[in-house]
Amino acid sequence: MSEDEILNKLLSHKLSFYEIDKIVGVSEAVALRRRAVEKLTGVRLQHVSRFSVDASSVAGRNIENMIGTVQVPLGIAGPIHVKGEYANGDYYLPLATTEGALVASVNRGCTVIREGGGAVVRILKDEMTRAPVFVCENIEGVVKFINWVKSNINRMKNAAATTTSHGSLLGVEHFVTGRNVWLRFSFDTKDAMGMNMVTIATDAVCNLVLEENADVKLVSVSGNMCVDKKPSAVNTIMGRGKTVVAEVVIPDKTVESKLKTTPEKLVEVNYRKNLLGSIRACSLGFNAHAANILSAMFIACGQDAAHVVEGSTAITTIEKTDIGVHVSVTLPSLQVGTVGGGTHIDTQRESLEILGVAGAGEPEGNNAKKLGEIIASAVLAGEISLIAAQAAHQLVDAHKRLGR
Ligand code: NAP
Repeated sequence: MSEDEILNKLLSHKLSFYEIDKIVGVSEAVALRRRAVEKLTGVRLQHVSRFSVDASSVAGRNIENMIGTVQVPLGIAGPIHVKGEYANGDYYLPLATTEGALVASVNRGCTVIREGGGAVVRILKDEMTRAPVFVCENIEGVVKFINWVKSNINRMKNAAATTTSHGSLLGVEHFVTGRNVWLRFSFDTKDAMGMNMVTIATDAVCNLVLEENADVKLVSVSGNMCVDKKPSAVNTIMGRGKTVVAEVVIPDKTVESKLKTTPEKLVEVNYRKNLLGSIRACSLGFNAHAANILSAMFIACGQDAAHVVEGSTAITTIEKTDIGVHVSVTLPSLQVGTVGGGTHIDTQRESLEILGVAGAGEPEGNNAKKLGEIIASAVLAGEISLIAAQAAHQLVDAHKRLGR
């Protein structure tokens, strides 16, 4: 079939967008779909059509029905000085955003953190979860099922291990409502963020469960107790992905010279805004704008941007001490990886390379942990700068100058 014939069939709906990848090569299919959309909508896609990423490496893996790319401006902030277990040194932060003032704000936070000697950061927990939901006949069946789960954890670990050479099942928690049971499985996923990996492994575990528990029915491999891409108390309390804390003590003189405010005002803004305001709003995020930094770094570095929802449940603390102002951010639920997902796409990989974390770590898992530490430190920088801008009543001025 000639390209014109394919185009006419697309326009007359005799061929679907997804069918043409099997007829022509990937690049041709991308161009033909784009031409069809241009004709169908009357919009000229002269910018969407210009890109350098290898379409054949993303089509069918990261995107279906590809017609081009969207370009997001990429800025750089830093260096930020990080004193983590995995990230140690100065890092330039790639931030992909259309929000004016964000990069400048993070940059100021990085300067302040450097004057405070660096962001000290630790990962407290690192487990990706998947929680299938099962239904039993009655509560007696529920108890029998839970007892089986408790006695068969090693067999479930072995079942998971048949599906992955990198991941491993660490444990399982159960939750019950009526005759419904959720098994919340936790995995070590090394350098992968791990959602595909743990879903495939959990499916294998579910097969074992069903073989041995004839009166238990699997409703769904994901039962929303995981909790993937929804804000939730369970992730905030138990953690999901990486649970990370970053902190710095800002010298009082830096608060004055760089942040143009006072320690007392920083403490007060954090207390009344991030803590009391969030309590009053029944928010799950007790921070100023963690989602801004997370989304910009996630987009730059090929992370799954929808996980910003979970990352945004961060808690910021600010306390005055004898040696300066102690600021911390706690991210209970940070999902990041340096292999898999969008991390291999040419532009995103370059951002990971700027941070020195592209691909598998040595030993495996260390690159993803390093990325988690750097991102948590970047969130700390963003919090310091925005809270200070509000304490100094500079927020509106900054956005008037930079954000429009
Ligand atoms: P992935 O793209 O499926 O690739 C991860 C795989 O890379 C691992 O399973 C592993 O293979 C391999 N690998 C190679 N070197 C590794 C290393 N050093 N550490 C760990 N793994 C290594 O990635 P994923 O992180 O599991 O999933 C990410 C994708 O899931 C994203 O595109 C995201 O959008 C999507 N997602 C899926 C769901 C879902 O429910 N399925 C939900 C949300 C998001 P082996 O396992 O064979 O060893």
